Amino acid sequence: MLESTADVVSDGKVVIFNYTLRTDEGELLDASEPGSPLAYLHGAENIVPGLEAQMSGRKAGDAFDAVVAPEDGYGLREEPGLRAIPREAFPPDAELEPGMELVIEDDEGELTPIWILEIRDEVVIIDTNHPLADQTLHFSIEIVGIRDATASEVEHGHPHGVDGSHQH
Ligand code: ZN
Repeated sequence: MLESTADVVSDGKVVIFNYTLRTDEGELLDASEPGSPLAYLHGAENIVPGLEAQMSGRKAGDAFDAVVAPEDGYGLREEPGLRAIPREAFPPDAELEPGMELVIEDDEGELTPIWILEIRDEVVIIDTNHPLADQTLHFSIEIVGIRDATASEVEHGHPHGVDGSHQH
C-alpha cells in the first residue's frame, strides 16, 4: 500500500502546531497558549527559515526539538542598530510601547521594520535589528494537524486561522 503524502508538511499545507521557544541558556522567550495552537502556511515564509526547513516532511503528531542558528532565524545584528528618532516623527496618536514593532517608510518608499526600545520625552530609541537577532533559537514543536490551504490562503500567503474560516 502506498503511503499517503496528504498529511506530510510540504508547500501549500497549513500546519497547526504548539511550540515553546527558548534561548541558549534555556530561558523561555515565547510559547503557544495551552490548547490554542498556531497555524502557518508552509513555503510562504510565515516562520523563520531554519524552523520551516525542519518542519518539512513531518507528520501530524510529531514532536521534536529544532535548534535554529541566528542566520536561519532572526538574522545577525547589523548596523546602524540603535537610533534616536524625534518623538514628533511618529503620528501624535500612535500609542508607542517598548517592544512594539513598526514599519517605517523612507524617502524612496522602502519599508523597514523597526523595534521600539525606549520612549523618552523628546525622542524614541529604536533598533533596526529584531530583538532576537544574534540568538540561537531552541524550539520544541508539536504538530497538531496538517491540512491543505484554501485558495484564498494560498493567494494571501498566510493561513486564515486553524480551520481556514477566518474572513478578512
Ligand atoms: Zn489573508
